[in-house]
Amino acid sequence: MKIRLASDLITDSIVDGPGLRTVIFTQGCKHKCKGCHNPQTHDFNAGFEVKVDDIINKVKTLKLQRGITLSGGDPFEQAQPLIKICKEAKKLNLDVWAYTGYTFEEIMKNDNPNHKDWIELLKNIDVLVDGRFIQEKKDISIKFRGSKNQRILDVKRSLIEKRPVILKQYQD
Ligand code: SF4
Repeated sequence: MKIRLASDLITDSIVDGPGLRTVIFTQGCKHKCKGCHNPQTHDFNAGFEVKVDDIINKVKTLKLQRGITLSGGDPFEQAQPLIKICKEAKKLNLDVWAYTGYTFEEIMKNDNPNHKDWIELLKNIDVLVDGRFIQEKKDISIKFRGSKNQRILDVKRSLIEKRPVILKQYQD
């Protein structure tokens, strides 16, 4: 199985969730948010393909990282390979954050063709930062989010309660 990425893994990030984190920048995004900081990640044919097993092997060699963060692009466009990677990260006691332009409510709608994979991916994510980037709601003072409409969600509780549950320790 392969995954299409926008760049090599970035280690030691401190802006994509708490602690030192390794970020996986996936390639491909449909949302076209005005003011997006990573427009080069939109094209589904750009970037490069890599074997999922190679990414897993890299994750296994990580040192001093609290977790991994799925970013992009939109990671939800490549749910299947990411499910595999997240499962391995969990075995290594790494926590998993993910950024997506989709809202929790959109992901939960069972009339979309990706529903099954998206739910499976969610089950392997601890924290989801959801929603498109809205330039008018941009705020550089807020942590881990680009714009104020985005939410930092406790995924486990959100799945149990079937509603978006905000993680108050990161978002007031
Ligand atoms: S979801 Fe993220 S990567 Fe996609 S257009 Fe919006 S800001 Fe850019």
